Amino acid sequence: MELKGKKVLVVGLGKSGLAAALFLRHRGAHVTVSDVRSAEALAKDIPALLEEGIMVEAGGHGLLTFRRQDLIVVSPGVPLSTPELVQVRSFGLPVIGELELAARFIKGRMLAVTGSNGKTTTTTLLGEILKEAGLPTLVGGNIGVPVVSLVDESADDTWSVLEVSSFQLESTEQFHPSIAVILNITPDHLDRHGSFENYILAKERIFAAQDAKDCLVLNADNTPAAEAASRAASRVYWFSVEHPVSQGAWLEQGYVVYRSQENAAIEQVMPLGGIPLKGAHNVENVLAAVVAARQAGAPAGAIRRAIENFRAVEHRLEYVATINGVEYYNDSKATNVDATAKAVAAFSSGIHLILGGKDKGSDYTTLSQLLRERVRAVYTIGSAAAKIESHLRGVITLQSCETLENAVNAAATAARPGEVVLLAPACSSFDQFDSYEHRGRVFKELVSERAGFTGSATGQARN
Ligand code: ADP
Repeated sequence: MELKGKKVLVVGLGKSGLAAALFLRHRGAHVTVSDVRSAEALAKDIPALLEEGIMVEAGGHGLLTFRRQDLIVVSPGVPLSTPELVQVRSFGLPVIGELELAARFIKGRMLAVTGSNGKTTTTTLLGEILKEAGLPTLVGGNIGVPVVSLVDESADDTWSVLEVSSFQLESTEQFHPSIAVILNITPDHLDRHGSFENYILAKERIFAAQDAKDCLVLNADNTPAAEAASRAASRVYWFSVEHPVSQGAWLEQGYVVYRSQENAAIEQVMPLGGIPLKGAHNVENVLAAVVAARQAGAPAGAIRRAIENFRAVEHRLEYVATINGVEYYNDSKATNVDATAKAVAAFSSGIHLILGGKDKGSDYTTLSQLLRERVRAVYTIGSAAAKIESHLRGVITLQSCETLENAVNAAATAARPGEVVLLAPACSSFDQFDSYEHRGRVFKELVSERAGFTGSATGQARN
């Protein structure tokens, strides 16, 4: 793809938009950036862009700006249904995402991980495994490192391990990972994709360009993910925590096992007890990683060592402290109902659960059974509180707390030794926080303040 002299518009000036703009400019394109946010909101990035000779349109999109381009690169945060994009696409102007742009330039092979939940954990783990196996490895994508920023470092023998979201996949065309993983597909982002079917279609773009030389790893226990097999041209491998699979990974007599094909020998990869992460969902992530890593050529020994040394990624069911016998866990990244269900399922009982934030069109009644079994009380926060309460009234003791601070205080007051205070809010954070990271940090600070207050915390990292 020749960029020199091309007129390219980057829509949306987030982290990946910024990286894409610089990437394009450095390859000789005439670049404009357009963002609906005001010039003041973009102030910190504008000088560097202007210095590079990149034009900036702030405070809205001008249709003319869009129409005079050769190529449009859209940020994952900008829906393809944005009217200006719909218009120019109808004129035949190419509109691609940063992932697609990068994929056209990156050298070596790609191993891409998608799913509603577990992407960051599994991508990080796979990066560690491939490094442990001595393979030249780069890690990026939705995890926070734009894929374009990996291009210069990539070589013919590189494995680029990429976390890819449905938003990124929506705007791919030729994106062609040698190994693709779909961890699970559960309702999420319905506000953006419009329907569960559209969301599934976006996820399935991960294997759209794959052929019989490529490998697709699917979760046999998750129907929407498993059903993708019938639409794939790739070789399909499976993982299951419930039963043996024809080719892939599963659990047998307390071991993680793997076989490369139906009649091949079964390899014992590691004992189940050697997985240092909390929660059954992390066993699923480990199984998925085992299959993908074996397919990439990592030996079982390296896989086992990397898994044993792995620690929870921050904000993913992260242990914070124990105060007066009560354990505090930060799962701020549980931004949808399924992730919350998995977090709750990781503890047997006595959970004080903080729920709420910005609703994403979710159905909280699906949590009812699990909450009855394991949760002592729910503390609601944020703009979704009223909806959550209406869905869960009569199911569980509810306390309206409005803020995270009130919720931590209320939960800490009610919790008895041996119980757990869990932030796993099932909502996004944008009503009260900048991001889930911000929300998680505030939670940890509130817990630390309490720990300081009582002087009886133990707070080393632990999973
Ligand atoms: P993602 O990048 O897909 O958001 P993360 O690894 O950041 O995934 O985890 C997001 C949330 O989902 C966390 O709350 C985590 O505890 C939970 N989670 C992780 N793996 C899974 C899984 N396989 N199934 C369901 N929930 C999971």
